[in-house]
Amino acid sequence: MKHASYDSDCIFCKIIAGEIPSQKVYEDEEVFAFNDINPGAPIHFLIIPKKHLPMLESAQSQDAPLLGRMMELAPRLAQKQGCRPGKEGGFRVMVNNGADGGQEVYHLHLHVLGGPRPWKK
Ligand code: AMP
Ligand code: ZN
Repeated sequence: MKHASYDSDCIFCKIIAGEIPSQKVYEDEEVFAFNDINPGAPIHFLIIPKKHLPMLESAQSQDAPLLGRMMELAPRLAQKQGCRPGKEGGFRVMVNNGADGGQEVYHLHLHVLGGPRPWKK
């Protein structure tokens, strides 16, 4: 189903709407998470807001709780996907923002990478 801010030019909006298949990790009313198609680590998934926010600077102050929720979900979903908890394990959270930041898909997303090293990225 298309969400309120669905953008027909956005591949992540299409993933949220189920028009492009994905390996879903998590979904609630505001947030969707799925495995990265080109993983840079044994565990690599993306956490995205359902709201089509292209970049960090697209977010307004009213979006702060949503961004906070995405961060707060990261450790829970990381463990669910097999990352070891605590200091011995852990994971990396990354946002590529804009061309200089290496962003390719303009629907804001948190990369979560984890699992035993070495990693590709
Ligand atoms: P970036 O915008 O640089 O953070 O990169 C976008 C990320 O999305 C890359 O890691 C891609 O592998 C990933 N990606 C692109 N298309 C898909 C897709 N259809 N399903 C899952 N991940 C994707
Ligand atoms: Zn989108």
